[in-house]
Amino acid sequence: MIKYINYNCKTILNRTKPAGVDPFIGTVNPYTGCEHGCRYCYVQSEKYLPYKTPDELFYTVKIKDNAPALLNYALEKTSQGMICIGSSADPYQPAEKEYLITREILNIINRHQFSVHIFTKSDLITRDLDILKDLAKRVTVLVSFSIITLDKNIVDVFEPNAPEPKKRINAMNKLSENGITVGCSIMPILPYITDKLDNPADNGSLEELIRTVKSNGAKYVWSGCLTLRDKQRQRYESILSDRFKPLIGKYRFLYSARISPEEKYCNRLHYRIEELLDKYNLEHDFSVENTLKVVQPEFSFV
Ligand code: SF4
Repeated sequence: MIKYINYNCKTILNRTKPAGVDPFIGTVNPYTGCEHGCRYCYVQSEKYLPYKTPDELFYTVKIKDNAPALLNYALEKTSQGMICIGSSADPYQPAEKEYLITREILNIINRHQFSVHIFTKSDLITRDLDILKDLAKRVTVLVSFSIITLDKNIVDVFEPNAPEPKKRINAMNKLSENGITVGCSIMPILPYITDKLDNPADNGSLEELIRTVKSNGAKYVWSGCLTLRDKQRQRYESILSDRFKPLIGKYRFLYSARISPEEKYCNRLHYRIEELLDKYNLEHDFSVENTLKVVQPEFSFV
């Protein structure tokens, strides 16, 4: 049972760097907490956790009622740049159907003509196509769909409350057909579970995922391996213990020295993914400047 709490936040634009230093001016999260409940979610770690326990993260959603008004005020005093929406909670989680905070935020961003990069696992984003299309006439609009695999059985275990991958792919296609630049975030790659590489006939392989997003309009793919920290690690290991017991030893070895898998594994995976992205002609250098060059060669932040 999800508990919704309406509240007024103190700030909404979380500046990532001092204004003017980077085209990314900051992140905006319309909600605190995320109903999608992904078992690998990095926000469960102590460094990011907004609540006392990881359970609360998935079952208590704070609705930032005053977020649109606060953002309006912040953007009046900000020079142009790109705003990232959805870095620590999905802006199109089920709460958005009722509370429309993300839609209102997009209206404010459209009024001030800021570029935007949205991260989501939900097809609900297609509801806001009207605003996205209008905004994209003048500034850069990027939508990154987070999809770790097309294998529904794996998704049911690790993303129990998120829309199934097919819905995300259909939404990607719809946005692309309407002129919005879309891409795919394959993050995190789960070692020995979603890291199968090459077989395009295998629904769970990375190649099939990359081929599918390409054929549904994706212009870029970015990827990264699972990191494991403190409470998030404990919770992930309990899923392994329940569902993938034979992998526990392999994970202990892979993550014995750091929060990321050992370097050799990461390098090998990274190299093979680069090859696949080249094969399907997808961008993989995800610096903002390069992405903007790909999207709108004439765009500049002056
Ligand atoms: S959608 Fe993103 S923020 Fe929400 S639970 Fe999943 S990984 Fe965490």
